[in-house]
Amino acid sequence: KENSTRENNVAKIKVVVRKRPLNKKELTKKEDDIVTVYDNAYLTVHEPKLKVDLTAYVEKHEFCFDAVLDENVTNDEVYRVTVEPIIPTIFQRTKATCFAYGQTGSGKTYTMQPLPLRAAEDLVRRLHQPVYRNQRFKLWLSYFEIYGGKLFDLLSDRKKLCMREDGRQQVCIVGLQEFEVSDRHNEVKETRRNNNNDGNEMKSGKVVGKISFIDLAGSERGADTTDNDRQTRIEGAEINKSLLALKECIRALDNDQIHIPFRGSKLTEVLRDSFVGNSKTVMISCISPNAGSCEHTLNTLRYADRVK
Ligand code: ADP
Ligand code: MG
Repeated sequence: KENSTRENNVAKIKVVVRKRPLNKKELTKKEDDIVTVYDNAYLTVHEPKLKVDLTAYVEKHEFCFDAVLDENVTNDEVYRVTVEPIIPTIFQRTKATCFAYGQTGSGKTYTMQPLPLRAAEDLVRRLHQPVYRNQRFKLWLSYFEIYGGKLFDLLSDRKKLCMREDGRQQVCIVGLQEFEVSDRHNEVKETRRNNNNDGNEMKSGKVVGKISFIDLAGSERGADTTDNDRQTRIEGAEINKSLLALKECIRALDNDQIHIPFRGSKLTEVLRDSFVGNSKTVMISCISPNAGSCEHTLNTLRYADRVK
């Protein structure tokens, strides 16, 4: 009995890696591109190293993920690989989450920004299909940023948000703008939904689905400093904390533990809602290709590797 419950509840995570191209600065500095992508699922990092006698050599690190997107992949293709496959599941009461993480400047915002609108368009297109005509749907879409342990609404001028737990231990994000993709009007309608009404909506016979987009940004933008290395470290620590917490939650869910450590980070507190019941999670790990980012790139990939 425990097992069947578990199978229904365990989050399905898809891990996708995206490599960005070398930027102007890196090209000017003639930095090497040390990341090679192959077969859309594998990559090798060529880590430049020195022996004790200072001879240079390269240590190769190989990784495999659900998908690996190279520097020539467009945002449209990113959408096709990451979000498009989970769109149909939203019509089956699934809570879907798509988030990006990686070092500062690795392309998280560039990757996330076009996804919510594309998803909304797809949801609306599907609502028009004959198969769905006789069902009632309540579909929600949100897009927010977790930045320095705080939440900001990216559909609403980066408005700062608070999190609150309701009576049923469900976390809700107070004031988050969730767009209702409505069956009645077949349009994306802007709605404010401060409380989690999933329970009531379920009872009313409507199919409730939701998709959240999260930009796991670092703390570099808020800080007034030119010390980039220090800021990169702070951001790295913040992101790693979230990923570590996520990994612990996944492990606890896999082991049928009663206590799931959702409180470990803002990311996992937000995802708690998604982990209970049907859920789909897409993690997009963004990496920089330049030799100077090698350590961060390997860190990002090792975390991604453990989550998958
Ligand atoms: P992050 O949000 O991870 O800090 P950004 O998304 O802001 O990084 O990207 C940093 C810079 O690199 C931006 O100028 C962005 O336009 C550029 N960039 C990122 N990814 C790509 C890509 N795949 N193709 C072209 N330019 C990119
Ligand atoms: Mg960003």
